[in-house]
Amino acid sequence: MNPLRKTKIVCTIGPRTASYEMLKKLALGGMNIARLNMSHGDHGWHGRVINHLKRINRKEESGVAILLDTKGPEIRTGDVSPDIHLKSGDTLTFTVRRKAVLEERCVEVSYDGFIDDVALDDIILVDGGMLHLQVISKGASDIICRSLDDGLLGSRRHLNIRGKSADLPSITDKDRADIAFAIEQGVDFIALSFIRSAAAIKDLQRHLRRQKARIDLVAKIESAEAIPHLPEIIAVADGVMIARGDLGAELPFEEVPHLQEEITRRCRQAGKPVIVATHMLESMIINPTPTRAEVTDITQAVLQEVDCVMLSGETATGKYPLKALAVMDQVARRTEERLALDPKVRGEASDNAKHEIARTAAILNNNLHAKAILVFTRRGLMAVLVSGCRPHAPIHAFTNSSHVKRRLAIHWGVQAFIVKFSKAPETTIRRAVQLLSSRGIVSSGDRVIVVSDILADGTFVETVQVRII
Ligand code: PEP
Repeated sequence: MNPLRKTKIVCTIGPRTASYEMLKKLALGGMNIARLNMSHGDHGWHGRVINHLKRINRKEESGVAILLDTKGPEIRTGDVSPDIHLKSGDTLTFTVRRKAVLEERCVEVSYDGFIDDVALDDIILVDGGMLHLQVISKGASDIICRSLDDGLLGSRRHLNIRGKSADLPSITDKDRADIAFAIEQGVDFIALSFIRSAAAIKDLQRHLRRQKARIDLVAKIESAEAIPHLPEIIAVADGVMIARGDLGAELPFEEVPHLQEEITRRCRQAGKPVIVATHMLESMIINPTPTRAEVTDITQAVLQEVDCVMLSGETATGKYPLKALAVMDQVARRTEERLALDPKVRGEASDNAKHEIARTAAILNNNLHAKAILVFTRRGLMAVLVSGCRPHAPIHAFTNSSHVKRRLAIHWGVQAFIVKFSKAPETTIRRAVQLLSSRGIVSSGDRVIVVSDILADGTFVETVQVRII
């Protein structure tokens, strides 16, 4: 039997993978989280994907979580027809004039504040850097730029201003409608695009509590302005996505690897899961095999022990979605074999009892070479804490809630199962061991670490146990 892959895989769903059959193939191929990108498709389309995923989870007993990724305050070009061919040195005008008949080489921008946000000499990036333009003059409604590259400018292209974040509200009206849809559909995670501070996350958390919606919030780090606020953002978010595409447009791209390392480290310290996203297997959108640089990129992320790696266009619109998932799985497994040669328990000693119980479980596991860690958890917290210590053995989490089971999909090394909780913890443990044995995950004589309540003098006491099953 294949060992459990510890690094989780997020697949973006698009026209190539929206059918029941393709979603099932992705789920069986190792997708842990399905990402719905609200920059594309309408609620009818996304609703059909969600229904398929829920059916697959029921029929295959899979625990694929659903992450709805908001569009956020993006700046885009208006309609351009035909596309404009630019040569390096050519001039182009961006305008916020509305409903005007535009002159040649003049393109509308979707956001009025663009005029105020942009300054002379600023660099504007089209589609994350496919084209760079420098601002050479600015009027009341027009910005004249000089192209620094040869390239094509088309309709609804994504614009960034290097080093700056647009002064737009963090959550737009479209995002609010999409969040209402997420609540109605009962998705597991919402990813918030272009988050710049902790305030927007806290506002949405309050809103979700009022609506009694149990949805975890993932802050997408992709704005220049988010970087000075990383500690507060990570402290309040339930998880973080390093959205390297926009991040490498708002900031110089050479900063991206260093920010990936910093954000990963901060998330680990705060006990928050982190997703590394974008361009991981970009060439597989058109080719059946990855570049060696892409393989190295995935390897680096897995060596950093990030919780998740993500596929975007590769699975949404690419020619080889299942191959891309298989490559990601294969590279992650190979790298985890290498990590296993020198396992290290992560996390500092603390005065938090639950945290110390988790650390003790991880230390016992590594020192005693236990086959598995079994964690009994109603809300998922103990499993998350054990995952944060990055123990050598797989973490099998047992919960009585399918929502908690799917929430755990984002956490490194955790495989979650539903088990009926008995009043007697020993009965629950027996059920869990039977379940693992029936799947060939453990067998008689194996040493395992158990993190569970026991009943002592009528009260529940948290324990870490070493058992031979
Ligand atoms: C990114 O910019 O890297 C990203 C993940 O954002 P999106 O794909 O939503 O534009």
